[in-house]
Amino acid sequence: MITNDVLIVNDSKLESIILKDLLKKLGMNGIISNEYTILTDLKKIDPAMVVVNYIMEDITGEQLIEEIKIRYPEIVCILASSSDLLKSQFKGFSIDDIVKIPIDQNKLKGIIEKYIINKKNICFHCKKEIQEDFYICPYCGEKLKERA
Ligand SMILES: [Zn+2]
Repeated sequence: MITNDVLIVNDSKLESIILKDLLKKLGMNGIISNEYTILTDLKKIDPAMVVVNYIMEDITGEQLIEEIKIRYPEIVCILASSSDLLKSQFKGFSIDDIVKIPIDQNKLKGIIEKYIINKKNICFHCKKEIQEDFYICPYCGEKLKERA
């Protein structure tokens, strides 16, 4: 099922509102969450994407994305940061992409097109593109289960 919900996790209210407006312009429904309630919110909301700020009070965006991906590997997780970060700085496969704050509208549009609109069937484990009807990933052998 395709949803246009995007959860925003940022301890700056202003940045959250700016992102929500930007998402709205791009046809997405931004829902403001925070580092403390995001895991509870995910039990009720099934977003296409989560945009998580890198530096927050009690947790980094990287750690939080890790927590989200353990539970919901199919949710696209974007790390947002005001400093220049590279995906290669982070271990593992948890972070799908990185955006710089202030977020450029075209960059965000590109991410939405890539991960949501033109979403290919991607193995949650090895990130390789696979055919829709596979139950087991032919590349890494992991089970491709649907979200419960
Ligand atoms: Zn795989």
